[in-house]
Amino acid sequence: MDLFYRSTRSKGEAVRASQAILKGLADDGGLYVPESVPSLDKSMEELSQMTYQETAYEVMKLFFTDFTEAELRDCISRAYDSKFDTEAIAPLVEADGTYYLELFHGATIAFKDMALSILPHLMITSARKNNVKNEIVILTATSGDTGKAALAGFADVKGTRIIVFYPKNGVSPIQEKQMVTQKGENTFVVGITGNFDDAQTGVKQLFGDKELADIMDKAGYQFSSANSINIGRLVPQVVYYVYAYAQLLKEGRIEKDEKINVVVPTGNFGNILAAYFAKNMGVPIAKLICASNENKVLYDFFETGVYDRNREFVLTSSPSMDILISSNLERLIYLTAGADADKNAAFMSALSTVGKYEITADMRAQMKDFYGNYASEQETADTIRALYEKTGYVIDTHTAVAAAVCGKYKKETGDTTKTVLASTASPFKFTRSVMNAIDKKYDAMGDFELVDELSRLANVKVPRAIEEIRTASVLHDTVCDKEDMKSVVMKFLGI
Ligand SMILES: *Cc1c(COP(=O)(O)O)cnc(C)c1O
Repeated sequence: MDLFYRSTRSKGEAVRASQAILKGLADDGGLYVPESVPSLDKSMEELSQMTYQETAYEVMKLFFTDFTEAELRDCISRAYDSKFDTEAIAPLVEADGTYYLELFHGATIAFKDMALSILPHLMITSARKNNVKNEIVILTATSGDTGKAALAGFADVKGTRIIVFYPKNGVSPIQEKQMVTQKGENTFVVGITGNFDDAQTGVKQLFGDKELADIMDKAGYQFSSANSINIGRLVPQVVYYVYAYAQLLKEGRIEKDEKINVVVPTGNFGNILAAYFAKNMGVPIAKLICASNENKVLYDFFETGVYDRNREFVLTSSPSMDILISSNLERLIYLTAGADADKNAAFMSALSTVGKYEITADMRAQMKDFYGNYASEQETADTIRALYEKTGYVIDTHTAVAAAVCGKYKKETGDTTKTVLASTASPFKFTRSVMNAIDKKYDAMGDFELVDELSRLANVKVPRAIEEIRTASVLHDTVCDKEDMKSVVMKFLGI
């Protein structure tokens, strides 16, 4: 049976998965949501015998129903190959009683690789299925990790171009170096003088610019989005929650049907929404623990039912979570509003005009399985140091926010449910913050000296992604004001 997708903002026509993947964002500015969340049609015992790739097929076939089996398996095998440095793709590591689901073994050592290594293939396949002749221009705003992962995924993929905007002073030195050294004729990286929300707002405006769309169409281009609002990002992220549960079962760490909690360091709300989808597909998940850094909009939201972006934007040591507008939350709002696009559109309109909205008691009741909390910069650093000293395991700053919140949750509730914690970046990606958390003395060292020191300390080989940028030359040096994003795009496309 075909699964259709609808926009969160209008009662417009439903589209097929391939069309939703191609468009990214719906014409009315809404996000595509499946008309229903499918249930897994394999048991956890069966899934526990499967590889990551086989599990990926079992999940994706239920969402991307207009892809043939051959098409999907082809996309999956191109994505989850030797770009990953472990056959497990997403291994589980136990440390201090928590299962860290390491999502950082791909090309750019952050969890964005989990989805962005497959999105280009899903997109090319979708284009072919829909007889699209235009070249696809991926336009992305990044708080650091998406940009590089998208660049790595799309570089030199025929029939695509990719333009990435990042906040010039809002990403780590290693993140920036990773992006500005990106190879590939079809890649373009631009720093903007503003923060991530400025970049994201600018990109959304370009997507909604009808005049620009016409000019592009005449020149043989059309935009698509690799941001986490694309359903082709969200669905591949559901896979690793299914896989993690199945692995725990396989290793005898949980009983059949035993519930687990999931903790996710959250920014745009994509990763945790994927966990919510996994739960709705039938994975026995009890609590969805949403961890924020000092930009604690989501914590306040789950506490009060009020989403309020009117606040100081804080630059933290977990920059990929420095976000005040969590785009993917819109899908949860829509679903808990009874899949009512008008209600959702009213909330989103309030968000863009007055910067806040309040959900109803009924909607809050439907979110009872979510728990939100946040970690301060100090708590984040303390968590890295304490875990290292206790176990020798070194986690990155984003993962540490989740670990700190996990600790708070357990203390507050006494809940002893086994916990899977999404470990979203390699500590090598945020070396300076990680090493400073372990000991302030490291601050005197240079970036790559620190990398070697971390490798010694953690007893982990320096990842290929880091080795590569040691000597790579800068290939992108464009910086622009947020007002000039459109002209920069037009110039790159030569239109
Ligand atoms: C993107 C990112 C996050 C936040 O994930 P969302 O899906 O945006 O909530 C957390 N940690 C790291 C390292 C990331 O790159």
